[in-house]
Amino acid sequence: VEMETVERVGDTEAAGLLGRYRAAWMPTNNPQRVLVRGAGSQLWDAEGKQYTDFLCGLAVNVLGHCHPAVQHAVSEQLGTLDHISNVFASPTQVALAERLVRIVRGAKAGGHLDDTSVVAPEQVRVFFTNSGAEANEAAFKLTRLTGRTKIVAMEGSFHGRTLGALAITSTEKYRKPFEPLPPEVVFVPYGDAAALQAEVDDSCAAVVLEPIQGENGVVPAPTGYLATARELTQKVGALLWVDEIQTGLGRCGEWLVSVADGVLPDIITVAKGLGNGFPVGACLAIGELANTFTPGAHGTTFGGNPVAAAAGLAVLDVLETADLVASANQLGAYLTSALLATHNPHIIEIRGRGLLRGIVLDQPVAADLQLALLNAGWIVNAPRDAVIRIAPPLITTCAEIDAFVTIFIETLNQVMSR
Ligand code: PLP
Repeated sequence: VEMETVERVGDTEAAGLLGRYRAAWMPTNNPQRVLVRGAGSQLWDAEGKQYTDFLCGLAVNVLGHCHPAVQHAVSEQLGTLDHISNVFASPTQVALAERLVRIVRGAKAGGHLDDTSVVAPEQVRVFFTNSGAEANEAAFKLTRLTGRTKIVAMEGSFHGRTLGALAITSTEKYRKPFEPLPPEVVFVPYGDAAALQAEVDDSCAAVVLEPIQGENGVVPAPTGYLATARELTQKVGALLWVDEIQTGLGRCGEWLVSVADGVLPDIITVAKGLGNGFPVGACLAIGELANTFTPGAHGTTFGGNPVAAAAGLAVLDVLETADLVASANQLGAYLTSALLATHNPHIIEIRGRGLLRGIVLDQPVAADLQLALLNAGWIVNAPRDAVIRIAPPLITTCAEIDAFVTIFIETLNQVMSR
């Protein structure tokens, strides 16, 4: 990408924009940089500084920034049919729903799709939303239609910021100021099968969990935990609701982590990677639940918008045709072994799957390290005091990963010697 094409608005302008941001936005965030342009894995700020994005808008841009296929699909669709509401159907909306049904039915371990599924197509149905939280809201409403109200959720969970999504999110500081939240949610330690068994009784409407808790510092469920959750819920007629908003659609080297691991949930929610940054999410209902919402039971003005659906279709097309899901697996393994091969004493563990990884440090320096990496031109984040999260685009390369490992170790050593 030619630097000449980057819009340079200068130091003063960048500082001015941040001042205007602070004046005009509610103070929910405190950004330190103004970004003006992206291409592939690269971003540029208002001062012309270049960054490699190994966070991807919080595990969103699976195809990197401004991917030509997404650009083309979105602009074509914007010039053909923009918005119609759900009073009407559109071709892109139908095609994306069918693609997601196919993914639920065909997700096989190793990041491959198989069309010989035992799940009938009419046993999977889709409700489109504009965000992850809204996909979870739709799921929450589905659980209420079972006639039961108790939800078993996980300690360390994150499901979004709407009141329903907050009710099943465990972080006290996010919840507390907004209570009362929807009631009858019980939290159990994530990964503890006995604790789960103790709460999954015949008053339980659903168990909700993430296959890997991204916001909690990329904490994967122990092997077999999802299968246990499936067995326990099945026994008492409760639903298994798996939030794959961060893990799903390629990020973890699988189309859907739960299904690839041999667990078919009743509800799967997806968002983040689906539109590569264009806002689109979906609540996927499987089995009997696919037909539970009756006309008027739920709705949205924008969900399934033709342009958002075109973005989603373009993303899924590229993921499939370029075999990026299986390659996320290989690149994730490459990254992990390259980091471990440095034998850096400050790296305790590398958690996660595919290209969603948590680098666990021996000291709580993650925030300082994140900032030092940003200054060095690399974007990552620090979901916990001693955990750096990386979520590179699935189009990254071994060479880019090598460059990351070099700069990461250099910067880690600098921060540790301060
Ligand atoms: N669920 C999970 C697992 C997430 O990681 C997130 C966002 O980080 C959400 C739900 C909420 O998604 P959104 O921010 O699009 O509402």
